[in-house]
Amino acid sequence: MRSQFGEMSEALFLTQSYVYETMESAEARFKGEAPGYIYARYGNPTVDMFEKRMAMLEGAEAARATASGMAAVTAAIMGQVRAGDHVVSSRALFGSCLYVVEDLLPRFGVESTLVDGEDLQQWQAAMRPNTKVLFVESPTNPTLSLVDIAAVAKIAHAGNATLVVDNVFATPLLQKPLQLGADCVVYSTTKHVDGQGRCLGGIILASRDFIDKHVHNLLRQTGPAMSPFNAWVMLKGMETLELRVARQSGNAARIADFLAGHPAISRVIYPGRADHPQYELAKRQMTGGSTLVAFEMVGGKAAAFAMANALQIVKISNNLGDAKSMITHPATTTHQRLQPQARAALGISDGMLRLSCGIEDELDLVEDLAQALQYAEAFHAAAQ
Ligand SMILES: *Cc1c(COP(=O)(O)O)cnc(C)c1O
Repeated sequence: MRSQFGEMSEALFLTQSYVYETMESAEARFKGEAPGYIYARYGNPTVDMFEKRMAMLEGAEAARATASGMAAVTAAIMGQVRAGDHVVSSRALFGSCLYVVEDLLPRFGVESTLVDGEDLQQWQAAMRPNTKVLFVESPTNPTLSLVDIAAVAKIAHAGNATLVVDNVFATPLLQKPLQLGADCVVYSTTKHVDGQGRCLGGIILASRDFIDKHVHNLLRQTGPAMSPFNAWVMLKGMETLELRVARQSGNAARIADFLAGHPAISRVIYPGRADHPQYELAKRQMTGGSTLVAFEMVGGKAAAFAMANALQIVKISNNLGDAKSMITHPATTTHQRLQPQARAALGISDGMLRLSCGIEDELDLVEDLAQALQYAEAFHAAAQ
């Protein structure tokens, strides 16, 4: 969409409200009899552009942008349920998503059941007559395990429920949940869509009917709207999204292969490698292995810390999807809140690191990891 000035870069309409020519036109717009914007919480031209472009990329009929990824997840689930309903979700979730499902929903009379996402029988067994929503993250954070989206969508639909997929780890480029049968896809656009560490954002993508019925009014009235400025930054991010994700997943694949052969590392988890336990599923539902790699250090937490501290190019950060490579230790950061047994059940060991691969030169990254691993090994040997 271009204004009358024919600008090349999208216009930033940093405005809260809109001017009406006459009282009659204001009345008509409020009645829904004339098109046009009313208030930025309801809609804004820059945010609109971002929503339309994301809908095209995802192959969705409609989209609504939100202030953050968590606003998108919360609205996509809460918009569909009321007291007395039931939600089923995989246990391996981004920490705040787990809070919404496990703590927040029950406070409003919506029961939730957490299942082992890889086990289809658990999904089936969790279904109740009042189950309204199934919620999935795949690949999961941080262990990069997968959920069979097409199979879980079938279970949802057989029980008259919907399937919502948090597709952040796969990105819109590497996995298309709507084509696999999901009813709704959510993103934290804070991650790969911005991709350069600037703005928070989120988006909900679904059929026009789904958005109108479950999401539209909730967002208008409760107000987690995306800022027009952030939408403009996201539009710039979208221009290079495909290039970045291709480069980042290429780097991730190369790094996963390097790490897999290293004596300081006991296990590498990457959905694009044939030794991933769900490699066949990855090939079926994804077109790439993702931009993240998880791995376990032989020397446990001490080795993981020593290794991460010795990195020169890769930064220590719990964020992901950025053009800069980042590493985090889930057991002491993102998953610190969990009891040790709960962490173990999710496969998050004290030696595990999660690497979000950026767009740097792949040999520079491999060299950086190699020197840090060498340092960690020397450190480990000295401690013995
Ligand atoms: C980051 C993230 C979120 C939350 O997004 P915010 O933009 O930080 O609110 C939700 N799900 C996944 C998988 C994420 O990585």
